[in-house]
Amino acid sequence: MSARLSAAAAGKALAAACDSVRPGTADDAVGAIVPSFVAAPSSTAQASALLRACAEHDLAVVPRGSGSRLGWGAPPARCDVVVDMLRMGAVIEHAAGDLVARVQAGARMADVASVLAKAGQEIALDVPGGATIGGVLADALAGPRRLRYGTPRDLLIGITVVRADGMVAHSGGKVVKNVAGYDIGKLFTGSAGTLGLITEATFRLHPLPAARAWVTARVQGTSPEVTTMAAAMAAAAANSPLVASAVELDRLASGGPISVGVLLEGSADGVAARAEEMKGLLSAVIRSGDAVIRSSDEAAPGAEVVHGAHAMITAPASAAPDCWGWVPLGGDDATLLRVSFWVSALAVVLEAIEAAARETGLRPFVMGSAGAGALYVMLPAAEAPGVAARFVGLVRAAIPAGRGGAVLLSARAPLRAALADDGGLAGSTPGLALMRAVKDQFDPGHRMAPGRFTWA
Ligand SMILES: Cc1cc2nc3c(=O)[nH]c(=O)nc-3n(C[C@H](O)[C@H](O)[C@H](O)COP(=O)(O)OP(=O)(O)OC[C@H]3O[C@@H](n4cnc5c(N)ncnc54)[C@H](O)[C@@H]3O)c2cc1C
Repeated sequence: MSARLSAAAAGKALAAACDSVRPGTADDAVGAIVPSFVAAPSSTAQASALLRACAEHDLAVVPRGSGSRLGWGAPPARCDVVVDMLRMGAVIEHAAGDLVARVQAGARMADVASVLAKAGQEIALDVPGGATIGGVLADALAGPRRLRYGTPRDLLIGITVVRADGMVAHSGGKVVKNVAGYDIGKLFTGSAGTLGLITEATFRLHPLPAARAWVTARVQGTSPEVTTMAAAMAAAAANSPLVASAVELDRLASGGPISVGVLLEGSADGVAARAEEMKGLLSAVIRSGDAVIRSSDEAAPGAEVVHGAHAMITAPASAAPDCWGWVPLGGDDATLLRVSFWVSALAVVLEAIEAAARETGLRPFVMGSAGAGALYVMLPAAEAPGVAARFVGLVRAAIPAGRGGAVLLSARAPLRAALADDGGLAGSTPGLALMRAVKDQFDPGHRMAPGRFTWA
């Protein structure tokens, strides 16, 4: 059969399976590949028929939520069909009494949040409102409050997926304690569309807090003293019985001040009292380390200056500080590294990033959930690939063995090539052999976002 005839036959099969199929356009491109088709199923049954048709015609499939982060990971090697999930945007069930909600994977976080808020509840993940449930799960993204509530993997209690061959699989359910069978939800969290299509997910919910308060400390000084100080504050806040919901850190310029922000949630009175105690705790850490803080910084209005102007703590605020929960995305061409580590290694990781910046002359942004052992490091797009690869290698080498790793979420082709012999995007992530075996099991034809993970 000629290519044209087989494309026509494939298009016919897709249209028979799904009531919304159109030709792909440049706006649908994933990486540089314009898909032949964009199909938007309205139900799990349609998604199943669609993926079966794709299997029969050997079509490569890339799932798409809001499409905001299709540039993360390596671009797929093939992309014949983009499966657009935005028609599957319903909250199917909200069992407020059980603190559980079942939602379709194309639902946007903000829409789900507004439904749940009517009963004073939420999915406790701080991700942008435009992102879809499927995209958040597939990218395994969590914001600042992962410290208290965990990541999508922890909040997900049930999932429905369509495998590459069109078979529908369910795992878990509405019960928070659910132990029977394989936990497919955990496999699909972070799978970046490579294992199958997520069509529904069930989450455990939390009550919306009555009050919130942020306490922010900022230190400036000479490395490594200042990184040690910031790490000591983050560890003290995260481990304190004051039960912080989040402990975030940012350093927006290499060698510049480091901010540690702590979020407390609960009843209004309780939060106010805990915020004052948290302020005292951070202040005590700063005082105990005062001898090593050397340079100075200008005090922000209303800030309490502790020991000269080297460090300061802002009065507890009911609004989030600037950049709270921000991920330094830096555009599609920027290099974005996610560093995960044991919290006890925070000072080592911060100093490693600083040392790599000094050695390479790069000026990274660093932000993230220091108290939960996850930082994002962004390098501007214009960096020479060899230099950026050196930076990534230095950071990876400095993380104590078995205590963390650094994965590139986003990297341009020249940087991917420069790192090809040095761990690629994933570095020395443990369990790659097992992950390959899982991929082979779920998608033996390698048609789901093939090549998205360079190791698969
Ligand atoms: C704290 C925080 C702050 C952030 N801030 C921003 C921000 O300001 N701006 C921004 O753009 N992003 C931001 N992000 C990233 C943002 O959360 C992601 O863009 C989002 O999670 C992706 O959702 P999406 O619907 O756009 O997915 P897409 O970009 O459409 O897809 C992402 C990946 O998931 C796969 N996928 C999507 N749906 C499914 C499905 N149903 N089944 C299987 N695989 C699927 C895709 O193939 C792709 O690999 C932030 C993340 C965090 C944690």
